[in-house]
Amino acid sequence: MHTTAAPLALLWHRTDLRLSDHPALRAAAQASSGRVLGVMVLPEITRASPRRVGYLLQTIEELRAAWRAQGSALIVLRGKAHERIPALAVELGVREVHTAPCPAFDEQLENAAVQQALAAHSIALVVHDEVTLIATPDLPFAIDALPDVFSNFRRAVEREGAWGALVREPLEPCALACLPVSLVTELDARTEATLAAEDLGAARSAAQQHDPRSAFHCQGGRSHALARIRHWFWDTDSIARYKQTRDGLQGADFSSRLSPWLALGAVSPREVAKEIHRYERERTANESTYWLGFELLWRDYFHFWVRRHGRRAFAAAGVRGRTPCGAQDAALFDQWCRGRTGEPFVDAAMRELAATGQLSNRARQNVASWLTRTAGIDWRWGAAWFEQQLIDFDVGPNWGNWQYVAGVGNDPRNRVFNVKSQAERYDPDGAYQALWLG
Ligand SMILES: Cc1cc2nc3c(=O)[nH]c(=O)nc-3n(C[C@H](O)[C@H](O)[C@H](O)COP(=O)(O)OP(=O)(O)OC[C@H]3O[C@@H](n4cnc5c(N)ncnc54)[C@H](O)[C@@H]3O)c2cc1C
Repeated sequence: MHTTAAPLALLWHRTDLRLSDHPALRAAAQASSGRVLGVMVLPEITRASPRRVGYLLQTIEELRAAWRAQGSALIVLRGKAHERIPALAVELGVREVHTAPCPAFDEQLENAAVQQALAAHSIALVVHDEVTLIATPDLPFAIDALPDVFSNFRRAVEREGAWGALVREPLEPCALACLPVSLVTELDARTEATLAAEDLGAARSAAQQHDPRSAFHCQGGRSHALARIRHWFWDTDSIARYKQTRDGLQGADFSSRLSPWLALGAVSPREVAKEIHRYERERTANESTYWLGFELLWRDYFHFWVRRHGRRAFAAAGVRGRTPCGAQDAALFDQWCRGRTGEPFVDAAMRELAATGQLSNRARQNVASWLTRTAGIDWRWGAAWFEQQLIDFDVGPNWGNWQYVAGVGNDPRNRVFNVKSQAERYDPDGAYQALWLG
């Protein structure tokens, strides 16, 4: 299939599933007079649970609608990116493919493979930075010199105690050119065929199931992210109490719950930052509103961390080359996964995770500490289980937090959680444990 007008450009989506605040899309549009198509490649074999895949599919559906509204299309293919993207680019006569990958080790390898395959056809892969709160060029240090400890990172990027000092305004959505209807229809039909696969249907059903014990059912897609911001910021003013509630275990509003949308890029951290600043101007600025920005800085830190450390982010000895507890006791690990360790707080949390794909930060810290420090199991097993189960899985925050808790990361404090006293403190009446163990 060839078109006669100016060459098309492709935007290869990964964890940037939106059209707003999108530097790679802007660059693709500039290179092609707005003649851009979106493309995604789903792997045949995935490490994600059906629920997490289903959540991704919900996000993709909204993204497809956004592309259609621009007179273009999102093409969803299946297989290996280094085979499917070049084949599509050649077929469409594309000269440039733009992308903004999450820069973890596997994604860097994937990039290199796609770049090489495209180069064989004289097609360029233009790689942009992913959108973090602070853009990489604005960092006061090179990524290779990322401070080892978060508090040093924070001090370097904050100015006079303001987390948002280096945060740029989000980019406005850019206008795209309407592509010929016949082309859009044909490409859309291919996407329909991809999405009709049986396993993806099962994943869609898994994501629709809602465990009535959970107070929050997260649905994929930008409209749901924006609705959540409206609810949590503006309708309930929950953001103004966040510092006091953020260690909660149960309920819908103790924390923002924005992580699943941020992880897939349905909303960008800069868009959330803009909303925090607006809230501070129009309602109130207090330690809670500060704290949400502070947590977004943690997210940034782990995104830069995973880029800096490459393979070491996934190595048993961690980024410092320490000797971890590395027991590979499959039976005990299985008990942990199923919430059958006999430790009630741990079991309640692990059952919540299995039933919903969600877990509060406090519970994550406790179950991770128990697995690695009390049971002495290889921390990478726990990180891999979280990667499979969590609908908000995000490579840097997940593997980075696991290294911290397991004591192989950069945390100078080397804390071990006493799960029993944590349960007494954060679940004093045992309601959370009763809910998930009952
Ligand atoms: C072992 C372990 C594994 C984790 N795995 C992930 C993961 O795969 N994906 C993920 O997004 N977060 C992960 N976290 C961090 C944190 O638990 C979640 O971001 C948070 O619970 C999400 O809920 P929320 O959106 O309501 O967060 P809020 O408390 O409302 O925070 C706002 C946002 O800040 C960011 N954030 C908050 N805490 C952290 C943190 N400790 N590290 C990095 N970013 C943070 C998230 O983007 C979050 O959405 C993990 C933490 C631990 C201890």
